[in-house]
Amino acid sequence: MQILVAGFDRQKFVSRDDVITALLRLPELHLRGIKVVRYDPNRIIATTMTWLTDEPLPPGTRGSYYQSENMSAIVVWNFSSREEFYHILYHEVGHYVFMRTLRQHQRDQWMKEIRPREPQTVSTYARKNSREDFSESYAAWVNKDPSLDKCPLRKAFIKHEVFAE
Ligand SMILES: [Zn+2]
Repeated sequence: MQILVAGFDRQKFVSRDDVITALLRLPELHLRGIKVVRYDPNRIIATTMTWLTDEPLPPGTRGSYYQSENMSAIVVWNFSSREEFYHILYHEVGHYVFMRTLRQHQRDQWMKEIRPREPQTVSTYARKNSREDFSESYAAWVNKDPSLDKCPLRKAFIKHEVFAE
């Protein structure tokens, strides 16, 4: 795997190997451009990116996904269990998949067909916008979270369009 996994020795919930194993559960295509997954407890990267982009992170944010021309990075800083970590990790990978792996017609299908037809979402946070909705649904699929069973249109899209099963 070409991804640098760094900083996780500074917490006790997941080991570096756990993070690598968690990433290897995903299709290679979903990770292809991601360069770094980093634990950043002091939010050094997040703070720097906020300064650079002038886009403050919403309060309560526990991780983020950054994309520039040649660099995709996932940064995670606040979790207090393995389950929470896996949710954040897959949620952030979901952002990468939505922006970089899906085709435009698939994004359109998600935004213009599935969301308007299915009012139920996998979480409250998923109601925020199409991207968060996708990331929450993506994480629910990978973690086998039963919340996705309440959203059959989303579940079918993730299954067939995203994981091609
Ligand atoms: Zn998000």
